[in-house]
Amino acid sequence: MFCWGSSKHAMIQVSWNVSRDAFSDSSSSNIAAIDFATTSDSTKRVALFGLGGTIASWPAQGASTAVIPSMEANTLVESVPGLESIARVESRTLRTMSSANISFADLFEVADAIHEALASGVDGVVVTQGTDNIEETSFALDLLIRDERPVVVTGAMRNPSLAGADGPANIRAAVAVAASPLARGLGTLVVMNDEVHAARFVRKTHLSKLSAFTSPQCGPLGIVVEGRVHLYTRVESLVTASPVGDVAPVALVRCVLGDDGRIVSALPGLGYRGLVLEGFGGGHIPEVMVERLVEVVAAMPVVLASRTGAGVVLESTYGFAGSEVDLLSRGLLSAGSLDGLKARVALTLVLTSTGNRGESESRFRAIVEAIG
Ligand code: ASP
Repeated sequence: MFCWGSSKHAMIQVSWNVSRDAFSDSSSSNIAAIDFATTSDSTKRVALFGLGGTIASWPAQGASTAVIPSMEANTLVESVPGLESIARVESRTLRTMSSANISFADLFEVADAIHEALASGVDGVVVTQGTDNIEETSFALDLLIRDERPVVVTGAMRNPSLAGADGPANIRAAVAVAASPLARGLGTLVVMNDEVHAARFVRKTHLSKLSAFTSPQCGPLGIVVEGRVHLYTRVESLVTASPVGDVAPVALVRCVLGDDGRIVSALPGLGYRGLVLEGFGGGHIPEVMVERLVEVVAAMPVVLASRTGAGVVLESTYGFAGSEVDLLSRGLLSAGSLDGLKARVALTLVLTSTGNRGESESRFRAIVEAIG
């Protein structure tokens, strides 16, 4: 694993092990007031960062049953029976927000906090957040974190006020994975419903079921049973992309029946610096869109993904105008095995890691190659 560039977002400069007072000056970042708590003195140490989401949501006082993210990370940790037998968990609240509000800038700060915790010697890291965009945030962390130790993202489908809330079980399983030497070198992982998923493949494929998270490309890497991690398959660490400038705006557009391409034509004028286009099937678009798309390729990198969300974008099967052979020959980049959401995360990060278009395109290709 190697990394490109260096981060200018090293905002959290304090050591993980210093006292609570040392965290009180968060003026250089918008990280929420930091709480700091530990459980047990087990030999394994796991840092847990709370960002909010359903797992940390509770009905607002005097309101209906509608919940808002409001719980501190240490409260979540304290709600998990038997956690101390797995690891000593050091928790901090970084945000109490819905995942809809998480930005790339937030993720750069989370990545800095994770690097800081890892530098202090923890065995692994858990991030708790809203589940709605875990498939994007976890993949962004996969590309931002430079360490072999496990980083595990989890959340909950049912909030703590509901019968059968899954947050405590998900935290327990996530901590078990974060503390496990077996989980090293796999990049960022997502643990939900006792399943271990690779960030590069996991998707939220149901709105409300506890089994909402699946990896259509290859299935989960493993499972957690009785607090023990069982891994059946492994993935390689990815090259990383360190942000060095302002976040590059990248659009994700899905090609639809009867599409004429007017949306893609508008993108350069809207300030976008990159486009991920989800084509039909193997990577196809209507012929009428091709010339419009060629104009966009002249202005910015354009990645071709499949709107099916699984499989590998074709390279040499179809030759009609608007086919994958046609589009790739016109300078579009293949998303390979990445779905549109993940290809957009990767393109955003490589464009944010260098101002040079050729370099960003070769960095994107390297990520796609590494995933296979
Ligand atoms: N429904 C979401 C969740 O599962 C809310 C969010 O993503 O913040 O946490």
